[in-house]
Amino acid sequence: MNHEASRSLYDRALSVMPGGVNSSVRAAPQPYPIFVDHGDGGHVVDADGNRYIDWIQGLGPLLLGHDMPEKLQAAIQSRAAEGPMYGMPSEIEVEHAEFVCRHVPGVEMIRFVNSGTEATVSACRLARAVTGRDKIVIMQGGYHGAQESTLVEGDADGTEPSSPGVPQAFAENTVPVPFNDPEAAEAAFEKHGEDIAAVLVEPVQANMGIVYPVDGYHGMLRNLCDEHGSLLIFDEVITGFRVGGLGCAQSEFDVDPDLTTFGKIIGGGFPVGAIGGKTEYIEQFTPSGDVFQAGTFSGNPVTMAAGLETLRFCAENDVYEHVNGLGRQLREGLSEIVADYAPEYTVVGSDSFFKLVFTRCDGEPQGESCRNGCRQDPDCDRYGGCPKRGTDIYRAETDRYARLFRPAMREQGILVSQNQFESNFVSYGHTE
Ligand code: PLP
Repeated sequence: MNHEASRSLYDRALSVMPGGVNSSVRAAPQPYPIFVDHGDGGHVVDADGNRYIDWIQGLGPLLLGHDMPEKLQAAIQSRAAEGPMYGMPSEIEVEHAEFVCRHVPGVEMIRFVNSGTEATVSACRLARAVTGRDKIVIMQGGYHGAQESTLVEGDADGTEPSSPGVPQAFAENTVPVPFNDPEAAEAAFEKHGEDIAAVLVEPVQANMGIVYPVDGYHGMLRNLCDEHGSLLIFDEVITGFRVGGLGCAQSEFDVDPDLTTFGKIIGGGFPVGAIGGKTEYIEQFTPSGDVFQAGTFSGNPVTMAAGLETLRFCAENDVYEHVNGLGRQLREGLSEIVADYAPEYTVVGSDSFFKLVFTRCDGEPQGESCRNGCRQDPDCDRYGGCPKRGTDIYRAETDRYARLFRPAMREQGILVSQNQFESNFVSYGHTE
């Protein structure tokens, strides 16, 4: 494949943008990223005219793919033509908020912001404000955006910032625990319970491969929070309106979080985030309460129109059947290939996202049917607890992933996520 145009854009970009990109994770595909010219359906075309099957799909927001349904395009165009934003409330914000509150069980009220990061920042601030406590429990290896409280590594006994510039004080107020380990969560509450403002957790971990919760895990977290007066925050920036359809992951797991953060799909491809939850908490945001939270672009009418029309389209069409069906087919096919060529690795995922994870299994194979070690095999009695599900990111073979990403996939016209731990997404634009 010829990448001359991408290479030359990258050279130009390097002198005006750090690493030649506008987000740290986009620099991963060395020696240089491809620069995209345009998308269509489930594909993107790069600056050199190379066409790829696109499993990145904007890193998750593009549930409908790169082609927008006519109604969605029209809604965006008419909003933009009417003046793109006002810095004052408009009806479309109310309509979008009503849609989310109607469909997501744990959301009675919502505040829109402009990114998933802003959403998790504001959720942490809100939880700290209403509890009068400072500590936030997070999952080791998880990701909640580029924010101080969660760019932290360690365990319940000690933490440090995972990026220079994050003050030690934030690390001291963050308590990372291993996902799917009830005892570790209990121990963390035993040690820090009176200081814990909230547990912030992705209901399905989508930033360390894709890891499903073991049975009862979220219910256990819910109980721990209730016992200790802490809030449970579901970060549904990725899972929202993807896992569990319009009810989101919380409906699939039947768990009632106090707060939910959103991003990605609810903006229909435009910058967005949101904090939803119980009225008693969300109402604490200014101006109805005292917890300061503001944003010039928040509730941007173009974003609101794109997001709302996307969700309406999902409600009125077979979007979830389509993407989840293709997702299943793809995981099954990939699993067969992996079983033949690299049985020590795992295909993970569910619904419309997937990942090939290069972490070797420590566990004894459970017979042939266990080769996936994951949810795709309903008879596997280790479902939920199988160590082969590729969950130990600290053992991930990153060099192997790099080889898969670039020479094996990109150069064959297939784009998978650039980072070892990020998910790949199936969209309505993909076909069998
Ligand atoms: N939370 C989760 C679970 C995410 O995956 C991400 C980003 O991928 C974020 C928060 C941050 O969202 P954003 O990149 O829109 O700031």
